[in-house]
Amino acid sequence: MSNKDVSFSTLCVHAGEINDQFGAPHTPLYNTTTFKFASTEKMLEVIEGKSPGFLYTRYGSNPSITSVEAKLAAIEQAECALAFSSGMAAISATLLSHGGNGVICLGEVYGGTWEFMLSQLNSLAYRVEFVAADDEQALVSLLAQGLGLVYFETPSNPLLQVIDIRRVCKLAHAHGALVAIDSTFATPVNQQPLTMGADIVIHSATKYLGGHSDLTGGVVVASAAALQPLRVWRKNLGQCMVPETAQMLARSLATLDLRVARQNVSAMRIALSLSAHAAIEQVYYPGLTGFPGHDVAKRQMKGFGGMLSIAVRGGAAAAIQVVDALRLFAIAPSLGGVESLVSQPCLTSHRDLSAAMRAERGIGDNLIRLSIGIEDADDLERDLLQALAVLA
Ligand code: PLP
Repeated sequence: MSNKDVSFSTLCVHAGEINDQFGAPHTPLYNTTTFKFASTEKMLEVIEGKSPGFLYTRYGSNPSITSVEAKLAAIEQAECALAFSSGMAAISATLLSHGGNGVICLGEVYGGTWEFMLSQLNSLAYRVEFVAADDEQALVSLLAQGLGLVYFETPSNPLLQVIDIRRVCKLAHAHGALVAIDSTFATPVNQQPLTMGADIVIHSATKYLGGHSDLTGGVVVASAAALQPLRVWRKNLGQCMVPETAQMLARSLATLDLRVARQNVSAMRIALSLSAHAAIEQVYYPGLTGFPGHDVAKRQMKGFGGMLSIAVRGGAAAAIQVVDALRLFAIAPSLGGVESLVSQPCLTSHRDLSAAMRAERGIGDNLIRLSIGIEDADDLERDLLQALAVLA
């Protein structure tokens, strides 16, 4: 059956899996750095692309890696996918490959991405301009100057800001620019940006794709042509995902649809419950009617995701009290796993920004970010309510 004939959850299980000669029901782990050949002629046939085959794992030429890449491409409806050693490896290879004519960074992005753009890309003489998510005039003016890549996250970390993918793609393409989107928070279950016009989609596979807080990886999906320069950066910077991780990622992707469906429902329920709570100033969740990005999210997302943030009354001290009182939510600076996690952006992901810069971005010291796991939603809600009760 072709990938076009089956639905998303079937692709999560079956797409890309290799049928080996021993009948393994999934792609085995090819834990090898290289592949041997019967003759020089046979080796040259593979190197020159005249025969199928594998060569050297750092190049990504390994069945465990190409198999998970085929699955990732299928679930994002992409022509091609490349697997990386981390989300930051995927992001940096994308920016190095396609940022040469200038990068427009739209809205808030993950702290590591921001640091890479500001300190490292700039030092390599790449031009990077930061534009507020709602400043269409500034975006168009930079596009008119010929900057070649628009980069953004939607929903963003940690304020769940939603950017209209179709709108930005239309503006960027009218000026000949490419659009790259970090879709980590949404996952391919909830959002498939390539189908809305985006050119490149990135995930930190460390989060929902891996889903168990036990692997570090990154993914870029796009057309084969758009990925070609990334392939070379990946090879020469040694950024490829290792086979052991590729095999674990493929195993994890089989349950992606199930996990995220549960996380969508639980997060929505918790967001609704907390938005009526007296100790909370604001709940940031794209699924809430009245949340600024809700209408756009409804148009471009199938579910609203498992991430939400809350601003508690009483400032930084109150936020620490609540976080420390949680029992089921573990304090950890990651997200997207089966276990619920909590973090305070001002102390973790956005720690390196000055207080004034955080305030300018709306990231208060009272902000708490919640990653909703797959535990029972009643248990999670009870845990949050007992922790918030310390402020009463
Ligand atoms: N993109 C987003 C939205 C993230 O939250 C993170 C990490 O938290 C990254 C990218 C970087 O991913 P990694 O830690 O796998 O390099």
